[in-house]
Amino acid sequence: SSWWRNVQPAAKDPILGVTEAFLADPSPDKVNVGVGAYRDDNGKPVVLECVREAERRIAGNLNMEYLPMGGSAKMVEETLRLAYGENSDLIKDKRIAAIQSLSGTGACRIFAEFQRRFCPDSQIYIPVPTWANHHNVWRDAHVPQRTFHYYHPESRGLDFASMMDDIKSAPNGSFFLLHACAHNPTGVDPSEEQWREISYQFKVKGHFPFFDMAYQGFASGDPERDAKSIRIFLEDGHLIGCAQSFAKNMGLYGQRVGCLSVVCGDEKEAVAVKSQLQQLARPMYSNPPTHGALIVSTVLGDPNLKKLWLKEVKGMADRIIGARIALRQNLEKLGSSLSWKHITNQIGMFCYSGLTPEQVDRLTNEFHIYMTRNGRISMAGVTTGNVGYLANAIHEVSK
Ligand code: PMP
Repeated sequence: SSWWRNVQPAAKDPILGVTEAFLADPSPDKVNVGVGAYRDDNGKPVVLECVREAERRIAGNLNMEYLPMGGSAKMVEETLRLAYGENSDLIKDKRIAAIQSLSGTGACRIFAEFQRRFCPDSQIYIPVPTWANHHNVWRDAHVPQRTFHYYHPESRGLDFASMMDDIKSAPNGSFFLLHACAHNPTGVDPSEEQWREISYQFKVKGHFPFFDMAYQGFASGDPERDAKSIRIFLEDGHLIGCAQSFAKNMGLYGQRVGCLSVVCGDEKEAVAVKSQLQQLARPMYSNPPTHGALIVSTVLGDPNLKKLWLKEVKGMADRIIGARIALRQNLEKLGSSLSWKHITNQIGMFCYSGLTPEQVDRLTNEFHIYMTRNGRISMAGVTTGNVGYLANAIHEVSK
């Protein structure tokens, strides 16, 4: 008899389970379009050249000391410039409370804890669908969840009208989770015009926008352009929250480096909020890891390395956009009677294909193609070598 005899196995993570099944499949034809990590055109993981160079530079003078609770001030400063803009008055006026976070997930989690501690009666409105882990993060922080309409299955685009209705009918002063760009899992983002309308309505309702920005630069290839949603809200004078991650746009997945920021009314408020964010981090992990932060501050702090980074981010985004075009063209060449326009209309890492769970099962069982059952295709797994095979299989199961 043990202390833990009543513990039942946890449900399998739907995304990580796909990779397990892929690895166990001996077929030489197998394709993994399940993972949310960038791969090159040979299907290989990538370490950016700017990151390699930063590592060479820091190798000599690395120590193993703790960072402060809030992490590397230099890294946080550079990271804020990416989200809020090079010449942001909010940064100049020290109105942003920000800490280094354990990548995007950690930023969301600390914010959810902060929300519950200081707005204990609040809820969070989450888009349908969203990155599945958002539900876990706010659940474990004991913040009640509501949903708002986002994806429109028929058009495989945005259900803007229903989304606006939900924004209008939520109680004034509600918290909303928004994907700043490259919405996961749908690849569907509001247009600039729609963002302006959303921002306007948030103003009318006094809602709080929390932006999860896990893919800045990864959507369009230009981090400035991908921050447009946030900039529109800032122009309108919103006090936003923001989760940033360097997992995708700098390829630092396992380094767990990101940033949580909260815009405050003035500097004094920002000092107080930052001290509370640090207090939330302290009993969880004391302080964040050094290495990734040093890579980020080295890359973004050096004009030449930053230029190289911008070029490499654009390279990744362009490869994915190219893979979208190739997949759509291949399907159309096969004479598919369905519309595949959404493959190229959607943006970022994922294509929400519209394939049913049963069709996905057939892809896996008959063609050794692995993806989540919601039909989400990771475009990063699509290569020149497998796009024809993938298109043919999709055509076969969707006829
Ligand atoms: N938010 C969204 C929408 C994501 O897609 C991801 C990565 N899958 C994350 C946050 C967090 O990733 P990480 O913690 O690795 O930065």
